[in-house]
Amino acid sequence: MTKNMTHDGKRSWWDGSVTTACGQKWPKGQGQHLWFVSVNCPICLAIRKRGKR
Ligand SMILES: [Zn+2]
Repeated sequence: MTKNMTHDGKRSWWDGSVTTACGQKWPKGQGQHLWFVSVNCPICLAIRKRGKR
C-alpha cells in the first residue's frame, strides 16, 4: 500500500467526509489523496469496472 494511491470515491456534501469504492472512509480534510481520475487502487478499479453503484 502506498499513501500516493488514489481511490475512486464519493464526497459527502453534508459532512465533507469521503467514502471510497473500496470501503474506506475519511473524515473531512483527509481525502486529499483521493481523486476521481487516475485511480490506481486495484480494489476501486475492480469495483468501478463491475459497475457497483
Ligand atoms: Zn480504493
